[in-house]
Amino acid sequence: MRVSEGRVTVTVPEQPDAGKGADVFFNPVQELNRDITVAALRAYRERTPRVSTYLDATAASGIRGVRAAANDWETTLCDIDDDATALCERNLERNDLAASVRRSDANVLMHSEAFDVVDVDPFGTPIPFADAAVQGTKHLLCVTATDTAPLCGAHFESGVRSYGAVPRNTEFHAEMGMRVLLSAMVRTAARYDIAARPILSHATKHYARTYLEFDHGAKVANDCIDELGYVHHCQHCLWRDHDYGLIADAPEACPVCEKHLQTAGPIWLGRTCDPAFVDAVAEHLTEEMGTAEEANELLATLRAEIDTPTHYDQHRLCKRWGRGAEAMDEFIEKLRDAGYEASRTHYGGTTFKTDADVEEIREATAE
Ligand code: SAM
Repeated sequence: MRVSEGRVTVTVPEQPDAGKGADVFFNPVQELNRDITVAALRAYRERTPRVSTYLDATAASGIRGVRAAANDWETTLCDIDDDATALCERNLERNDLAASVRRSDANVLMHSEAFDVVDVDPFGTPIPFADAAVQGTKHLLCVTATDTAPLCGAHFESGVRSYGAVPRNTEFHAEMGMRVLLSAMVRTAARYDIAARPILSHATKHYARTYLEFDHGAKVANDCIDELGYVHHCQHCLWRDHDYGLIADAPEACPVCEKHLQTAGPIWLGRTCDPAFVDAVAEHLTEEMGTAEEANELLATLRAEIDTPTHYDQHRLCKRWGRGAEAMDEFIEKLRDAGYEASRTHYGGTTFKTDADVEEIREATAE
């Protein structure tokens, strides 16, 4: 079948069972992810003018790399699969674009060559590519993870094994997953004296995606490590707190209801986006992108998110309090009127961030 995205048209095989069993994988649902990738590449070139090379390390049909090539990136498309690289060649030709196509294990390629921007968009976890990707990246590493159950603690042991952190299945699960992924990537980069700072990150229930900007040096890598820490969370009353550092300093019990606390970490507690970069990416969304409107809304929400490592769900809180839910804008306005910081989040339509605690939220939003 033919698929048009952005400025390119590619051929991809029919995907019988959501990609499983197809000769070469293609997921139309990831168009938003790819549109934002193209806008981010455009914005990043303005932010770091000398960058020119882009590696699509796990290319499949090549749609992401073909789109980068159509945006004047000196592109390399890599896949371990013969059918995939053959399709990449055909898709470049169809669009009259030139790029280097490599049939290789991406880990071998990234260990031997470095690119300004590297994109790792594998099946499931990106961790098997993490060390090589850090070494093969000069400036910006873009990473997708689709193994959301291990990341958010729903598959606990698998999450611990893959990410070297303790994930917890909380009501802010997509954010937990994002911060576990960021923690693993930051710690991987730090092993090579590299600071990897997220300048754009977004998550859905299907995947987490982040863009990590690199800065070299032991001192800056240490500064990054300082932004790791632990979240302590009470499943009973939803109280939560966080502390920085690599040694968890958990209270013995929840200070509100005295029930058992769960601790997650080390997770990334720092900012997940650079607001200036988010603005720049939004400016580079263009009409020919199929998801431009949705992407623009997502970036606007990310831009406005206040900087806290967890969030709440209004419906879940209201249910606990035996109250009806109300329009999110009014709910958030009540928090602000009471003097708290508050914003929606991109993690869900009824989710919000605030510096108020659960009891303060209840009082501030009461009739
Ligand atoms: N980036 C693609 C897109 O936007 O449509 C989707 C990539 S697909 C999820 C993952 C691809 O990674 C598959 O084509 C698979 O053959 C490839 N792959 C798996 N292991 C690999 C490895 N070690 N090196 C390179 N490619 C690999």
